[in-house]
Amino acid sequence: VPQGHPERPDRIRALETLFKEERFHTLSRKTPEACDASWFKLCHPEQHLEALQANIPHSGIAVVDGDTSASPKSWETVLHVNGAAIAAVDEIMAQQVHNAFIAMRPPGHHAEKTTAMGFCFVNTVGIAARYAQQSHGLERVAIVDFDVHHGNGTQDIFQDDPSVLFCSTHQMPLYPGTGAKTETGVGNIINAPLSPNDGGEQFKEAMRDRVFGALEEFRPDMLIISAGFDAHKNDPLASLNFVEEDFDWITGKLMDLADRHCEGRILSVLEGGYDLEGLAGGVDAHVTRLMNA
Ligand SMILES: [Zn+2]
Repeated sequence: VPQGHPERPDRIRALETLFKEERFHTLSRKTPEACDASWFKLCHPEQHLEALQANIPHSGIAVVDGDTSASPKSWETVLHVNGAAIAAVDEIMAQQVHNAFIAMRPPGHHAEKTTAMGFCFVNTVGIAARYAQQSHGLERVAIVDFDVHHGNGTQDIFQDDPSVLFCSTHQMPLYPGTGAKTETGVGNIINAPLSPNDGGEQFKEAMRDRVFGALEEFRPDMLIISAGFDAHKNDPLASLNFVEEDFDWITGKLMDLADRHCEGRILSVLEGGYDLEGLAGGVDAHVTRLMNA
């Protein structure tokens, strides 16, 4: 990671410190294996993946796009992030766990079919959704994205695929610029943009008005969360004002929904969150709630 870049290793160190606390001692934690890169083809064309891999430097840092850089370890890291998500889908489907949270970086929701961008190389939640469908025969997977940025990559991948419902709250205007209410895919994309300085009240309203009804109607067989914590009031990259209680609230609501439709099956994948205390506080609320399944 280039010096001063917000998407940095300290983010995961902050979560490691959090999970050392007494109340997480009962949390089952695992170190992931790398997955086979062929799973990436579930969401990205082979040619694009080859070009991406060819861009990984042998030393130093290579620029992938304006704010996305690759180091020699980037490819291996992305294989591990997706290995974790895929293994979690397997464990959830085998009923070894009710739910799982992937506390890894880099994030994935900005990665479009053929464009790596916004700190993202491949779309982890998208690959996990298609993996659940292909390997476990699930028909409908819903992805809920409460990262402060729009999940343009996830929308790009699924906008023609009615077997996946994508719902996103995000600040608008903000990077990457997409996510208007009018972007609806084949009726399977629900964008609920929030305005700068909005907080938990507006978030809850957007979820109640636009997202929960669509999820109920869709009746997902699995729920995947793009869990970003950069809507936190202290985050330096955006100007929403979520507090820990808001992350607790949405987690509880999504768990109720998953209980009604899919035996509580939830895979949650870390996306953004760049204020270390805000990130740790949000993840604390989210994972504490998930542990009460
Ligand atoms: Zn974000």
